[in-house]
Amino acid sequence: MKVIKTIEELRPIIKAWRKEGQSVGLVPTMGYLHEGHKSLIVKAAAENDRVVVSDFVNPTQFGVNEDLASYPRDIARDARVCEEAGADLIFHPEPEEMYFRDSCTFVNMGKLTEGLCGKTRPTHFQGVCTVVCKLFHIVAPDKAYFGQKDAQQLAVIRRMVRDLNFDIEIVGCPIVREEDGLAMSSRNTYLDDAERAAALILHKSLMLGKEMIGQGEHDAAKIKEAIMQNIKSEPLARIDYVEIVNPDTMENVDTVEGAALIAMAVYIGKTRLIDNIVIVNDKNKCRLL
Ligand code: AMP
Repeated sequence: MKVIKTIEELRPIIKAWRKEGQSVGLVPTMGYLHEGHKSLIVKAAAENDRVVVSDFVNPTQFGVNEDLASYPRDIARDARVCEEAGADLIFHPEPEEMYFRDSCTFVNMGKLTEGLCGKTRPTHFQGVCTVVCKLFHIVAPDKAYFGQKDAQQLAVIRRMVRDLNFDIEIVGCPIVREEDGLAMSSRNTYLDDAERAAALILHKSLMLGKEMIGQGEHDAAKIKEAIMQNIKSEPLARIDYVEIVNPDTMENVDTVEGAALIAMAVYIGKTRLIDNIVIVNDKNKCRLL
C-alpha cells in the first residue's frame, strides 16, 4: 500500500489517474481503522476506479482538553486494512503539511453546528469543515464517503458541499456495529472491560426509543426522557446530550413524523461515545433507516 505524505507527491498521481479518465473516491478518516472505516473503503472501491483514504488525526477538530495526544495511531495496520478493502493509496500527512503555521482561513457554519456535538465541542466542526474542504481541494474526488455514525458531521458536510458548490457526491454509509450492538469506534480502545460492558447502554437506549415509536409514541419529549432515564440506570454513564432532531437540519422535533434522528453523546468513564439511529415513522409503520 502506497503511503503518501505530501500534497506535492499526491497531486501528480491523481492527475495521471484523471488523464486516463478514471474516477476517484475519497474516504476521509483519522486512522486506527476498523470494520466501520473498512465498509466505507469497500463501498468506495466498488463505485470508483481509484480510492484515496486520508489518514490524518486532524488537530483543529480537537478542543484544548480533548484526546488529540492520546488518540490511537497505527499506520502500518491501517495500510493493511486499506489494502484488504481495495484502496489505492493512503494520504497520511503530518499536521505541518496540512496547516501553515500562520493559517488563518477556516470554514465556519452557522446553525447546523450549534447543537448536539457542537454544543460541547464548539470548535469541532470548524476543524472538520476546514480539513474536509482542504482534502476536497487536494484530492478533487468525484465521490466522498462518510459514516452515518457521525450523523451531524454527515449533515454538515452535505450542507457545506451544497453551500460552497463542490462538485462532489457525498455518500452516507450505515453504522457498523459489534455483534452486541456497540457502534465501532477508534475510541472504543479506551474502554476497560467494565466500561466496554457499560457502553452497551447507548445502543440499548436507542433501541428503547425505537420500540416506543413502534408502539405509537410520537411525543419526542417523552421518548427523550425515557431514553435519558435508561442511560442513567448505568452507573458508569454520564449523558452529554440526547436529542431528537430532523436529520438534515439538526433542528429539534416535537413529534416524531417522517424521518427523525435520535442522537446521543454519553461519557462512559472518561470516554465520550456517540451513537444514533434514524427512524422513519410514516403511516403507522416504524422502521430504521
Ligand atoms: P473517524 O476516523 O472516526 O474520523 O471516522 C472516519 C469516517 O468513518 C467517518 O465518516 C465516520 O463516520 C466513519 N465511521 C466511523 N465509525 C464508523 C462505524 N462504526 N460505521 C460506519 N462508519 C463509521
